[in-house]
Amino acid sequence: KVRNHNEPEFLQAVQEVAETVIPYIAKHDIYYGKNILLRMVEPERAIMFRVPWVADDGEIHVNRGYRIQMNSAIGPYKGGLRFHPSVNMSILKFLAFEQVFKNSLTTLPMGGGKGGSDFDPKGKSDDEIMRFCHSFMAELCRHIGPNTDVPAGDIGVGAREIGFLFGMYKKMRNEFTGVLTGKGRSWGGSLIRPEATGYGTVYFAQSMLKTKGESFARKTVVISGSGNVAQYATEKATQLGGKVVTLSDSSGYIYDEEGIDEEKLVHVMYLKNEKRARISEYVKKYPTAKFFKGESPWTVKCDIALPCATQNELDGNDAGTLISNGCICVAEGANMPSTPEAIHEFHGAKTLFAPGKASNAGGVATSGLEMSQNSLRISWSREEVDERLKGIMEDIHDSCIEYGKEEDGYINYVKGANIAGFVKVADAMLAQGVV
Ligand code: NDP
Repeated sequence: KVRNHNEPEFLQAVQEVAETVIPYIAKHDIYYGKNILLRMVEPERAIMFRVPWVADDGEIHVNRGYRIQMNSAIGPYKGGLRFHPSVNMSILKFLAFEQVFKNSLTTLPMGGGKGGSDFDPKGKSDDEIMRFCHSFMAELCRHIGPNTDVPAGDIGVGAREIGFLFGMYKKMRNEFTGVLTGKGRSWGGSLIRPEATGYGTVYFAQSMLKTKGESFARKTVVISGSGNVAQYATEKATQLGGKVVTLSDSSGYIYDEEGIDEEKLVHVMYLKNEKRARISEYVKKYPTAKFFKGESPWTVKCDIALPCATQNELDGNDAGTLISNGCICVAEGANMPSTPEAIHEFHGAKTLFAPGKASNAGGVATSGLEMSQNSLRISWSREEVDERLKGIMEDIHDSCIEYGKEEDGYINYVKGANIAGFVKVADAMLAQGVV
């Protein structure tokens, strides 16, 4: 806490892990007294760099770029890049730390990392985005590589940005390799990667519901966010018979009592991915829906809630409202969207609750599958990748039960995910010695 006193998000993420992992370490001699957690909370490397770029009007801007290489015990660093004005060391260290456990849970050989910039893509032209991405990669390319560190997308970094980043990497290094995931289909990308995080979150929620003899059929689903994860969570939840009634962005949420069906989702994708507009525009085309400015959707009555926007977007009060409205299952599509108070509420009410590091691991798992396809120089079919994704999500669910089932039968997914993720990384660190 002294060393990282000005990093609240990082401390929050570490505390959540420590609370469940320290008692486990205390009961297991092979881990006890080795200071493994102390080693895991210190990044192997944290890189910070200047990103200068020229706007369309000729003005020169400077942003800050980062890459946190957190842990490489079980494979090359792997984790997304986030472009958002809130990005700082604390947020990226929390994301990189979570990523170590998440990647371990997927059973694929990937270490943990995260990076990004405080650059705000909102309102920028395509040319400005390209110049920024090129400048960012001109420095980042020294620190990454297909066997060293393989970044991907995250908030503010989608297919367009990955394309610009890849182009500059290829130019600087003069090699065509799988150094980034989330690439376009014609140049090394994997089918299902865009869908994977949202689909995976819903597959995981499906496994959770199954433990109670429930499913998505005829359930009302509340989703926050309207970006990549939220869009594909909406698609899969709808395919499984659920009715998704909300989506949101940083300006507020829309409520559509009739449900955001396939056709309406196509419009959401047009608004958010092509027009890069606000979600409030949804009500222009569907006037029976309502827009609630500056609010988040947690007061809407639902059976299932999928927070898919950003960290700390669902607090203790929101959790209390969801529980009293009859919500039975919460699966995080975003990273750490629930505050510690919210998690406490869910556990107290024995609500099915999955932390992002388990339920949103489908994205990075499919990135791992993209890396395999790149190494083998082959391309798997849509069905093949989707089957593997489903299998991985089921395996993660099984691991959570193995390490998280409590005496009264309640599955503590936070405990299960933390311990299952820890064990694999800790075993590798012990085998490799103090390095
Ligand atoms: P996108 O950039 O595609 O979408 C982000 C969404 O969240 C937008 O609707 C955005 O609204 C909203 N949002 C962002 N910041 C805030 C904020 N401070 N307050 C309210 N709303 C906000 O990102 P993704 O969908 O890729 O990522 C969403 C979450 O999922 C993140 O937590 C990310 O780390 C996590 N995640 C993503 C993975 C992936 O594969 N993409 C993998 C695993 C986790 P607005 O447009 O107004 O900013």
